[in-house]
Amino acid sequence: MKGFKYLRNVTTLKMDSGKCINCSKCIEVCPHHVFALNGDKVTIINLDSCMECGACAKNCPAAALHVDSGVGCAAGLITEWLRDHRLLAKVECC
Ligand code: SF4
Ligand code: SF4
Repeated sequence: MKGFKYLRNVTTLKMDSGKCINCSKCIEVCPHHVFALNGDKVTIINLDSCMECGACAKNCPAAALHVDSGVGCAAGLITEWLRDHRLLAKVECC
């Protein structure tokens, strides 16, 4: 999904650079290339590409990342897809 853009300025992703130890785990696990190494510092370079999957926050050893995973666009897209494929009622009832 390289190049995919989420709605602008709505992601809940937040990075506390004061806590970050620049381990690059978030770069490794993020499927949307949201982070990059800038010199020896990890920074957010594509905030609007974040789909709030939560992988970065779960894998951050310094608790420097926060994201409300599963409540934003990703959940909306999945719900829309399920509705389009008439699977939503099945999912909701199980
Ligand atoms: S995983 Fe956490 S500590 Fe490591 S570079 Fe990313 S934000 Fe910083
Ligand atoms: S929540 Fe997922 S998509 Fe967003 S920055 Fe973290 S790993 Fe990347």
